[in-house]
Amino acid sequence: MALAHSDVIEKKSSIDLKTQAFIGGNYTNSLSGKTFESISPVDGNLIAQVAECDVEDINNAVNAARTVFEKGSWSRMAPSKRKKILFNFADLMKKNILELGLLETMNMGKPITRATGDIAACVNCTKWYAEAIDKLYDDVAPTGDNLIATITKEPLGVVGAVTPWNFPLLMACWKFAPALATGNSFILKPAEQSPLSALRVAELAMEAGIPEGVFNVVPGFGPTAGKALGTHMDVDKLGFTGSTEVGRYFLSYSGESNMKRVSLECGGKSPNIIFGDAPDLDFAAKMAADGMFGNSGQVCDAPSRLLIQKSIKDEFLEKVVEYSKPWLPSDPFDPKTLMGSIVDQTQTERILDYIDKGKSEGANVLTGGDQVMQDTGGYYVNPTVFKDVKNEMTVAKDEIFGPVLCAIDFENEDEALQIANDTHYGLNAMIWSNDLNKVHKLAKRIKSGKVLINSVSDGDMSLPHGGYKQSGFGRDKSLEALGQYTQTKLTLIEIK
Ligand code: NAD
Repeated sequence: MALAHSDVIEKKSSIDLKTQAFIGGNYTNSLSGKTFESISPVDGNLIAQVAECDVEDINNAVNAARTVFEKGSWSRMAPSKRKKILFNFADLMKKNILELGLLETMNMGKPITRATGDIAACVNCTKWYAEAIDKLYDDVAPTGDNLIATITKEPLGVVGAVTPWNFPLLMACWKFAPALATGNSFILKPAEQSPLSALRVAELAMEAGIPEGVFNVVPGFGPTAGKALGTHMDVDKLGFTGSTEVGRYFLSYSGESNMKRVSLECGGKSPNIIFGDAPDLDFAAKMAADGMFGNSGQVCDAPSRLLIQKSIKDEFLEKVVEYSKPWLPSDPFDPKTLMGSIVDQTQTERILDYIDKGKSEGANVLTGGDQVMQDTGGYYVNPTVFKDVKNEMTVAKDEIFGPVLCAIDFENEDEALQIANDTHYGLNAMIWSNDLNKVHKLAKRIKSGKVLINSVSDGDMSLPHGGYKQSGFGRDKSLEALGQYTQTKLTLIEIK
């Protein structure tokens, strides 16, 4: 049944917000007693004061996580039992889907329909890894008769995760689901802009039967709480999703501390290459707009550089502008809304600065380009399409992380490839063409973790997500992610 606006408002008024850290199975204040303000970008109002964790709180969380790991109540539990508990966890997320979705809408202004869609994706992700875990066998090496050598996968121990605000729970879930499935203890430092869904989900994990200390959430700021996790001597692995700039810190944190494993899911500036012989230009144009303006453009693999073959440039851009029209920002709590707010004032100002820079460097605005709905007190920018962009311009080089599409034209395949790869990012790429030879050649030469051809269907959990170059390394989703939360042990027996 479709969600009604009145149901959303009613539910919102009845939510019991969890604002303390969740450590060792209990909600707790930060040791310093400090809190930080959680402001809603929907209307600029204060939602709550949230516990501000720092080094000592992280120490406590790591102790709790380590203690339960060594005890073995989760780490050595039979995979089939962990699977059942993770299924309970997923079911509880599903049961509380509207509340969890609402917490994300309140925190970062994502439209409620999209937010509940993200929670549904968390349910699916958790079940996917739970379902996988009792079907993976270890190996016996092909040695001679006098040796038995087993090669087994063991959990790493204490896994930390530092995550962004654009998909608050889903980016965390891509890490906690495989980490928990493989038997690790987990500590999440959510983005300071969007801690509320993670804080609520922590108690659902306990309710599902995950032992206390296995799932911890420590809200706080990056340079304090995030750094404390990254530099902790007893954290075995740190999974990071966020900007390339901050991703670099985690490599140093690891080197400065215990050489913990690090995986990085960072930024992107993905090319979307439209050839004149695309099978359905209309669909490609709709996907160009939908891909850019969904989540207000705050998507790591958004197709933000639109490369259009010169022969169809004007016709195609007309369609893109047409398809950008439904993406006008509106009330995020209304289930009919497609595009909500920008996450906060800082990000809004950053986006508007980039729009100014684009204009001053010679690009032309075809549509949008302004802040809107200021009367709400919130932060909204309308969908913006730049034409006449050159790949050297700042708007084509930097990740804007807002609803700003940059159209660049090209003559032929070689030029398209050169522009596509002329970036230090390498997360995603799209190609629209009917010429199989051409797309195969290009797909092999494009330096990115994903190349989608005449399609945007990369959501399935079986498909790996991650980058080349400075978009990071390691993969979320798919069975490949399980390898990031286990280590390989050789055990050898000599038979006399
Ligand atoms: P961000 O890098 O500013 O913050 C991410 C996290 O890092 C937050 O939890 C923050 O508190 C923490 N952090 C910040 N400074 C830190 C420091 N000095 N030490 C330790 N931790 C620190 O990113 P953001 O603004 O939250 O998110 C947007 C970015 O995330 C974009 O670049 C986007 O492309 C990227 N992202 C990537 C993926 C992917 O899968 N590749 C997915 C989503 C978002």
